[in-house]
Amino acid sequence: MSTIFTQVINREIPADIVYEDDTCIAFKDINPQAPAHVLLIPKKEIISMATVVPEDQAVLGHLMVKASEIATTLGLSESGYRLVVNTNEDAGQSVFHLHIHILGGRRLTWPPG
Ligand code: 5GP
Repeated sequence: MSTIFTQVINREIPADIVYEDDTCIAFKDINPQAPAHVLLIPKKEIISMATVVPEDQAVLGHLMVKASEIATTLGLSESGYRLVVNTNEDAGQSVFHLHIHILGGRRLTWPPG
């Protein structure tokens, strides 16, 4: 079932898009948890890490390469950043279209809450 992120992909709702290609799109989180908070999503409707199949390998590899490039573009490479993929209930996943949170611009605590 499609989510609000499909509406972002289809330009049916506004989003502050920072990167896009044929495979993925990245946009600023509407409720940022750090000075830099971008969501990077595949255009393919993958529900979560829990539903990933071997055929998703190229898409997931692409996302990781783009996450690195976007973090560099955001000026986060030297100071540091965190990539987060919340998966299902215990991790607090709220949108069931796989997404990588790119978080940075402040000191992030560990362990996460
Ligand atoms: P999750 O909790 O599933 O890991 O992350 C979902 C994220 O999507 C949250 O950080 C939330 O703020 C963000 N989000 C939810 N709806 C929208 C939206 O309509 N636009 C944008 N830009 N972000 C959204």
